[in-house]
Amino acid sequence: MRADGMKIIGLTGGIGSGKSTVARLFAELGVPVIDTDEIAHELSHPPSKALEQIALEFGTDFIEKEGGLNRARMRELIFADADAKVKLENIFHPRIKTIVMQQLDKQAIHTPYVLLVVPLLFETNTYSSIIDSSLLVDCSEEHQIERVKLRSGLKNTEITAIIANQLPRKARIQRANDIILNESTLAHLQSSVSALHQRYQDQTCRFT
Ligand code: ADP
Repeated sequence: MRADGMKIIGLTGGIGSGKSTVARLFAELGVPVIDTDEIAHELSHPPSKALEQIALEFGTDFIEKEGGLNRARMRELIFADADAKVKLENIFHPRIKTIVMQQLDKQAIHTPYVLLVVPLLFETNTYSSIIDSSLLVDCSEEHQIERVKLRSGLKNTEITAIIANQLPRKARIQRANDIILNESTLAHLQSSVSALHQRYQDQTCRFT
């Protein structure tokens, strides 16, 4: 727990599980949300020191004409080359964490808890020492594939490759402090979020 008493809930889940939707529902209840994916996205647009570093280390081929990151090309490279993946992570992760810490400090006196969205919370451990509790959005792989297909137009094989790179469902479930099962309607999801919000506000939940 932070000295200021504000709790940090780490929100995670596989691709297409419903993390962004859950984050939005918490935000609608007035909970501050810090999203590491959004920060990464911002760092992928100019002006950005991360992009300058990418141009230096990977070459300007990975930068689009408008100056942003060529995501498709980078995704292709890091799937095929583990060293490149580590190199890219070393450019992004420390910068993302610095911004997260700044945003947490800004929220500290205003709120009993914040939601920190970290898709690979259990895979990377970067945030395990700063969160008080983890919240997993869980659903079957079939639901994940169906939702991502609708949202992105990626092919089945591309989606299953991304899923295979993430922690298996069972391992995530074992590590999570709280779980929202997102296999029903959005109304159902909303009531799960409201119930958890009550509990987090009361601060009676089991914090690790
Ligand atoms: P993630 O952030 O985990 O990748 P999203 O929150 O973006 O997942 O959800 C993936 C897609 O599925 C989105 O288009 C979202 O609107 C949709 N979705 C999520 N949960 C539900 C649900 N319970 N019912 C219907 N559609 C859903």
